[in-house]
Amino acid sequence: MIESYLLKNIAGYIDGQWIAQADSGKTTEVFNPANGKTLAETPYMGTDETRRAIAAAKAARDTVPDVATRRGWLEDCYEALTAEKEEIGRILCLEHGKPWAEAQGEVDYAASFFSYFAGMMEDTLAPETLLEQAKDCRWTVHKRPIGVAGLITPWNFPIGMIAKKVAPALAAGCPLVIKPAAETPLTMIAMFQLLHERLDLPKGMINLVMGSSKEIGGEIMSSFDVPMISFTGSTEVGQLLVEQSSQHVKKLGLELGGNAPFIVLDDADLESAADNLIANKFRGAGQTCVCANRIFVQDGVYDEFVNKVVERVKKLKVGDGMDENTDVGPLINAAGFDKVHDHVKDALSKGASLVAGKHPDELDSGKNLFYTPTVVSDVTHDMKCCQEETFGPLLPLIRFETDAQALEMANDTQFGLASYVFGRDKERAHKLIGKLHFGHCGYNTGTGPAAHAPFGGFLHSGIGREGGVEGLMEFVESQTVPDGS
Ligand code: NAP
Repeated sequence: MIESYLLKNIAGYIDGQWIAQADSGKTTEVFNPANGKTLAETPYMGTDETRRAIAAAKAARDTVPDVATRRGWLEDCYEALTAEKEEIGRILCLEHGKPWAEAQGEVDYAASFFSYFAGMMEDTLAPETLLEQAKDCRWTVHKRPIGVAGLITPWNFPIGMIAKKVAPALAAGCPLVIKPAAETPLTMIAMFQLLHERLDLPKGMINLVMGSSKEIGGEIMSSFDVPMISFTGSTEVGQLLVEQSSQHVKKLGLELGGNAPFIVLDDADLESAADNLIANKFRGAGQTCVCANRIFVQDGVYDEFVNKVVERVKKLKVGDGMDENTDVGPLINAAGFDKVHDHVKDALSKGASLVAGKHPDELDSGKNLFYTPTVVSDVTHDMKCCQEETFGPLLPLIRFETDAQALEMANDTQFGLASYVFGRDKERAHKLIGKLHFGHCGYNTGTGPAAHAPFGGFLHSGIGREGGVEGLMEFVESQTVPDGS
């Protein structure tokens, strides 16, 4: 079992109280994916706890203090996360599996959303008097909190994904009902412990429920008192939430799946492209929404690039994230492992070549969750690894001849989250970037989102943006006040 001074309570949190036991008396086991050992048992909550959490949040709406006080919350939160990044990173590493250093990097990333929104919120939320004075009135636009927000997050960034939502929501003045993923609730509980101890939040301002996703999600979606949902996770669940949102015309922020193209043009700096690809692809063992899923390489540099990639992949160390030599940790669960396995088998059966990693027959999917980083070349667009998000350490290489061909293949997906283009000729690269249907496009960099920039997807990758001014506006309603006095 996990021991941590940030996990004094392995519990939900409703109306300012820790709730260690679910009404049902049931619990969920949380495992360390590196060794299969149980870390903790969390309460398995459902409809009734969620109803109480919503009621507490609704009651807190009228106690939300002014913007200066809320800025203080964000600053305190930034300081708490920064001060505790080693311990939060350790908890995150144990329940998720990513290397401890990488987990601490995620805590820094989470903290950056609190400092960014703290720095811009007062100006951004200030009422604006319009220059136009139509109908003999003085028009002012106020930015009001949207109300209680339901926040639902995935396991792949246990603190990064919630920070992107909590920071702007508290900045805007929205009370919250939060549901973490079943696999990684402990990092969230640790964050709640910090918020409980170090912030003077009104009772009911933040609530944490965990357990039945169907019941918790169902209750949040069917409640008139929760006008906004911000969800990060799979497109399948996002689509369900879209259906469920119609009854109360809820505002939805959806950060969904990806299928990122990584395009290497024949004038690219191949060393840099290969370094960026490795860093981008194997972060979180390939379990990130922004990681390259399809690598398109131009014919003239294809063989040279494949060699550079293979050389680097063979050096990656797979192991327990708490071992400082580990580059790539385990996958989150057996379903995740089996999906990668299936994509590799499918690609090889359709004519791709294995150029790094183990043949699928050598891997025993029942034994553990460590998947050897794998590279397959001569991949074609009909293979599963091109059609679906693999979400694991599989790097498929696809050859192309012309820029138009790369563009057509890259856009041939219902997803539109992250994309990358590498090439020295800026004008040529930007011609491609302008036509890529993706919300994020790294040019000569594999870097992902940052707090100050709006991030989100086109098409089936989502609705709305996180980060930047847009990320704050997700939690705000504009109220126009024409003053005729
Ligand atoms: P998931 O299965 O959709 O789960 C996400 C969250 O939704 C979890 O908390 C889950 O709870 C909950 N959930 C499941 N069914 C629900 C329902 N019927 N109603 C309400 N909530 C429900 O996704 P995941 O496997 O955790 O995450 C991986 C996916 O997230 C990938 O597709 C990835 O690309 C995407 N992602 C996108 C972004 C982005 O910024 N666009 C960032 C990170 C991840 P339980 O865990 O309790 O089932």
